[in-house]
Amino acid sequence: MRSLETAGAVYDLGAWTFTAGGRVARLARALGLANDLATIPTTVARPIGGHLRVANLRKPLSLLTGVFSPIEVLHAIRLLYFSRTLPGRTPDETAGAWAARSFPPGFNRAVLAPLAGLYFLQPLADVSRNALLGTLRYLTHIQLMSFKKGMGQLGARLAATLDLHYNHTIESLSLEGQAVLVRGKGCSRPFNGVILATPLPETLRLIHAWLDPDHRQAAERWPHASAVLVRMLLKGRLRRPALQVLPPREMAKWICGFTVERAKSAMRTPADREALTIYARPEKCATLSQWCDRDIVAALAGELARWLRLPRHHHFECGVKRWPYAVASSDPEAGLRVAAMQAQLQRLSKRIPVWAAGDYLGPASLEGAVASAEIAARACRMHFKNKDHLLSSKH
Ligand SMILES: Cc1cc2nc3c(=O)[nH]c(=O)nc-3n(C[C@H](O)[C@H](O)[C@H](O)COP(=O)(O)OP(=O)(O)OC[C@H]3O[C@@H](n4cnc5c(N)ncnc54)[C@H](O)[C@@H]3O)c2cc1C
Repeated sequence: MRSLETAGAVYDLGAWTFTAGGRVARLARALGLANDLATIPTTVARPIGGHLRVANLRKPLSLLTGVFSPIEVLHAIRLLYFSRTLPGRTPDETAGAWAARSFPPGFNRAVLAPLAGLYFLQPLADVSRNALLGTLRYLTHIQLMSFKKGMGQLGARLAATLDLHYNHTIESLSLEGQAVLVRGKGCSRPFNGVILATPLPETLRLIHAWLDPDHRQAAERWPHASAVLVRMLLKGRLRRPALQVLPPREMAKWICGFTVERAKSAMRTPADREALTIYARPEKCATLSQWCDRDIVAALAGELARWLRLPRHHHFECGVKRWPYAVASSDPEAGLRVAAMQAQLQRLSKRIPVWAAGDYLGPASLEGAVASAEIAARACRMHFKNKDHLLSSKH
């Protein structure tokens, strides 16, 4: 939940969108950030002849604006039909296997694979069909929101509202009597209870000694997506901004798609500039993450320049963000894995006052992460309420 302001532009470094009626929006309003929320149009675009053709997924007729070829429009209609009829009725499978039976390879490569990359940071072959269809269904129905000045607004406001040490790395946890000793830079002290909202690999490191060996092994093999993002401030503006830009047909080597920050809010970009966040293709992240930043920028910027027919020296400022652990995997087995992990962690919380929260305990999204945090907070509160009750009934 971080964003970066640089050279007058605001970029989200990770998650950036949530639904108007969901938990994140509710939390933002409760923190007094209602005026900092932006409702955003669910626009999808494709560069054609160097310019973006834009369609709004909530306005079906706009699919005819040339973003999709006539045959792609037909497949898009079938896709929307499947998004309403398949999930919940037939057993889940990978979107790759399902799409290979249901659509021609060109549509899968040009439309479905970039959507899987942009929304799940995973190759089409790995994503759950139901998760992909569920996302498409909500994109066509639900009002999306973002923060006008970047996702970091939420973390910063939370830190200012609560009594917390922000940006402190926890190095270890151990038991000290009934309490949990938290050791970290600038903060080493015992707490009655701890809610760990760290990414799964970090949570596992911190609670390693307390896990059953079987669960430890299963958790260590937990599949996740990694990501490589490039932010770029272009000279000049695109004719029309769009939330998600898919690659031109037949033309994607490194890039899975990009986001135009101005589509989230006009406040994010200085005049006569365009701020983009470019997502590398999930299949290429392992290779790219071995490269230095300069080579990553050269590969992605070169490809982008061909897509948009940009002149030489087209950008002012750019940077690379690498996510070795970007998000928990949304594959067809995710539901079973999550249930087993929840049960294991609940057993742990009965022995040791540590609760866990994170997107590996629910849908791999901001909503999933906040939902798991609410559950953890309730369990923690109940634990101490019951303890207080026992203590007061003994007196
Ligand atoms: C590029 C990208 C785009 C995304 N876009 C969206 C989107 O638009 N909408 C959406 O819903 N989801 C999106 N997601 C997914 C979403 O970001 C995650 O599902 C969500 O952030 C998970 O929340 P979390 O609290 O589990 O983990 P995180 O958000 O990863 O938070 C974990 C926190 O723990 C901190 N931490 C780690 N180690 C330690 C330590 N030892 N001590 C203290 N703190 C520590 C980290 O710094 C981090 O702040 C995106 C993810 C990525 C990578």
